[in-house]
Amino acid sequence: MPVKDSRHPPSAVPRDELEDVRRTQLIEVTIDSLAQVGFVGTTLAEIAGRAGVSPGLVAHYFEDKDGLLEAAFRSLARVVAVRMRERFALAGSPRARVQALIDANLGPENFDRRTGNAWLAFWGQVLHLDGLKRVQKAYQRRMLSNLRSDLRAMIAAEEARSLAAMIAAMIDGVWLRAALSEWQEADSESARALLTAFVDGRLRELSRSSAGSGAEGATPAAERRRDAEHSIRVINPATGAELALLAVDGPAQVNAAVERARAAQKEWRALTGAERGRVLQRAARLLRERNDVLAELETRNTGKPIQETRAVDVISGAECLEYFAGVAAALAGEHLDLGRAAFGYTRREPLGIVAGIGAWNYPLQIACWKSAPALACGNAMIFKPAELTPLTAIKLAEIYRESGLPEGIFQVVQGFAATGRLLTRHADIRKISLTGEVGTGKAVMADAAATLKQVTLELGGKSPLIVFEDAKLDNAVTGALLGNFYSAGEVCSNGTRVFVHKSIHAAFVERLRERTSRLRVGDPLDPRTQVGALISEEHMEKVLGFIARGRAQGARLVTGGARVTGGELSRGCFVAPTVFDHCHDDMDIVRREIFGPVMSVLEFSEEEEVIARANATEFGLAAGVFTNDLTRAHRVIAQLQAGTCWINHYNVTPIELPFGGVKMSGLGRENGRAALEHYTQLKSVYVAMGDIESPY
Ligand code: NDP
Repeated sequence: MPVKDSRHPPSAVPRDELEDVRRTQLIEVTIDSLAQVGFVGTTLAEIAGRAGVSPGLVAHYFEDKDGLLEAAFRSLARVVAVRMRERFALAGSPRARVQALIDANLGPENFDRRTGNAWLAFWGQVLHLDGLKRVQKAYQRRMLSNLRSDLRAMIAAEEARSLAAMIAAMIDGVWLRAALSEWQEADSESARALLTAFVDGRLRELSRSSAGSGAEGATPAAERRRDAEHSIRVINPATGAELALLAVDGPAQVNAAVERARAAQKEWRALTGAERGRVLQRAARLLRERNDVLAELETRNTGKPIQETRAVDVISGAECLEYFAGVAAALAGEHLDLGRAAFGYTRREPLGIVAGIGAWNYPLQIACWKSAPALACGNAMIFKPAELTPLTAIKLAEIYRESGLPEGIFQVVQGFAATGRLLTRHADIRKISLTGEVGTGKAVMADAAATLKQVTLELGGKSPLIVFEDAKLDNAVTGALLGNFYSAGEVCSNGTRVFVHKSIHAAFVERLRERTSRLRVGDPLDPRTQVGALISEEHMEKVLGFIARGRAQGARLVTGGARVTGGELSRGCFVAPTVFDHCHDDMDIVRREIFGPVMSVLEFSEEEEVIARANATEFGLAAGVFTNDLTRAHRVIAQLQAGTCWINHYNVTPIELPFGGVKMSGLGRENGRAALEHYTQLKSVYVAMGDIESPY
């Protein structure tokens, strides 16, 4: 590539390709020389000798040593600029552009000994050579103006100016320290991690101070269009309003969290179960005391009706903490009699540091369901909520702290899948408990395999709800409503395939239509609202897409089937509770998890037939049976491939009962004593009671 030299008027510079190649070669030789013999040793004669040309030829191209150095300096600066442009082109947001700038300036090539030493030689001369000074100033100006303009899209102008100066100073400072330590103090990766952590930390602080308590409306939404990669814009899906802005945690934060957890867990595991239980009890009490405030925050963040979050989300979390507080005191191993000469015992010990990764539909409940057993068993937990709903996990961490939980035992990291992967791949984290989609479960399990972590996977479902001809019709319809429209259908265990016996099919569908069409869709904060907003526009589009496919594939729309707009609701993601009838087993709406308010009704004739059809799915999370025939209920349940089943009810999940799936719906169980198996490991101890017989 031709290198422009400002010291020569264009007409004086030879332009043919060979000349350009020769100039480039001389510049490369100069960089080699600077790296090897330093500034003083890099003379025209030295360059000429290395290049195998006469000193006169070098002077012909670059006039003197200063000209040659300036051209070499420009060449290095241009490489960084090109890298930066390439990265900018890939960056989809202001935060990503800031990162692109950091990555380009602290990329591995700048820590390479040759390039690094050449840069160092230049820095040493900048003050003495006007040409270098000019290049340096232009370079610095460009860096600052890029940083300022991107930061201004995220924070106030004044803050952007000062943060830009800090970032620029840190980039140069970190690099210079690394160079002066002969590349011992930092490498490219750790330098970038340091800068990333610093930028994220500052953005988080600035957003906290501007967002206050995170209350809606505290930030001017228009000014705060955030990027999607390095910060999380938390949105109220019912109104589109921004609730908060959080910085994404990267390797530095995750590593720091693991270090804190490691230090704290030693003490925590040494407490008695009863002592740990008391902390959980206090936390449960605080959850209950703050039920309304937490429920409101959950409603704003998830779009779920306040009548649900007040009655279920926080309370279910508190119940879980209370249950495991009690269980903690009863944690025990076994004593095993091994005859007169020995006995054995097992110790039930914590795993160490464990991670929880949550889905967005029940954010606080999921955080409680994962942390309560983990903490009760003496582990430390690092929890990553879904990026769409990150707020109530932070509140749970505060509550744990207030309850006397030592610092570091429950920590929340924020981020997207990449942050989740930092947890799943971390060598010092011994277990991952994920609630999410099947695909995510597979990815998590594959990542966890590298360090042989244990995994609990609570994944998706497409569960059957079977209504026999002798069922109490209204109870069965209530079950179907609960199993499809609670939380706007965003419930993993929903019974979305409703199999109804042909003899009651017409009556069932009519009653269902009537009751579904009366459901009140509306502002989630209105206590009368029964169906709130879906989690995001993207998700709403997905759900509407399924509805369109249901129609196209020949299902009969009984009720609903469209987005709900009008007035305030136009700003949110509302979909009418939808019932399809005349569905077939091979339709998309019947086979795939929709995770929205869409129910499919299917007709059946025989018990055996319906069992086979109910099981004909890759999923196996839950199932329900409505019948008044006691023996049939148990006979059918015993044949259904599902982890959690209900007879004459649907979607109730008391903490005492283990919850989880079979087949592609998951591995392991949450809740009940079964959860203890997943947060502890057994140590077997053999105790000899006498002398040892020696065979030697
Ligand atoms: P996702 O699988 O998309 O995400 C779940 C969590 O995993 C999120 O925190 C997500 O981060 C994170 N994540 C995504 N990819 C990775 C990865 N490769 N490594 C580590 N972490 C990752 O699920 P949703 O949040 O969309 O939740 C809906 C799904 O959850 C549905 O399928 C539903 O059935 C299931 N679910 C299952 C339940 C059960 O108990 N069986 C209960 C509730 C929901 P990010 O947020 O950034 O994407």
